[in-house]
Amino acid sequence: MPNQRFGKDFCFIISENPRRARKEKQQMKILVVEDEKYIAKPIEQVLKRNNYSVDLAYDGEYGLDCGLTDLYDIIVLDIMLPKLDGLAVLKELRENGIETPVLLLTAKDQVGDKVKGLDSGADDYLAKPFDNEELLARLRALGRRKSELAPGGLLRFGDIELNPHTLLLSRGDKSGKLTLKEAQLLELLMRRKNMTASKELIIEKLWGYDTDAEDGNIEYHVSLLRKKLAGVGAQAAVGTIRGVGYILKEEADGEKNRKRHV
Ligand code: CA
Repeated sequence: MPNQRFGKDFCFIISENPRRARKEKQQMKILVVEDEKYIAKPIEQVLKRNNYSVDLAYDGEYGLDCGLTDLYDIIVLDIMLPKLDGLAVLKELRENGIETPVLLLTAKDQVGDKVKGLDSGADDYLAKPFDNEELLARLRALGRRKSELAPGGLLRFGDIELNPHTLLLSRGDKSGKLTLKEAQLLELLMRRKNMTASKELIIEKLWGYDTDAEDGNIEYHVSLLRKKLAGVGAQAAVGTIRGVGYILKEEADGEKNRKRHV
């Protein structure tokens, strides 16, 4: 058995001090959930050398307990894990409102899992084997997305407001929680104001340059975002510019808007 399971209390206790340390040193805290010690240990070493604070979990249940403390800046999550697989961990985290960016580790033959992972709210994935520089680059990209958001800055467009920190979308008295990807997509469209966001731009901003994310990934997140917008009764709506990309329109009945901006 790779490690003993101590439960949520233990994870909270070991995480208290690192959190204080992180505040003092501005150190990013990363949870690595990986059962293969020959992979997990070198990851821990390279991350520590690069000034990250690292906790390791060797099975899915323990990883989930740690992730649920919401003390981590990024979670590196293997898919094939004992006790609870990575996709189940991810699902539980998102269902419990934990929006910590997740980098999935996948084997090369797990293409289906990769797609399922992105659909379940993972933010990026890395195929094993990978080199350290690539891992560090992915983590920097995920960390940057978090820190690029101005503190307390609410974004407004038409009748909607987005808090990029709490991922809360609101219109008047109504509000709904977005996933990280939905919030990033909406934020991008809001910042573009009345300009089209091309699919290439959306992929670059949400998944980074070096990614296998495809149009299907965008379409999926757009359809989820549209449901959330409808859920708060927003007039603002995501319009499709066929063959080009997407645009945020002020009115749901926005055929004129769409044509004007083509
Ligand atoms: Ca594994």
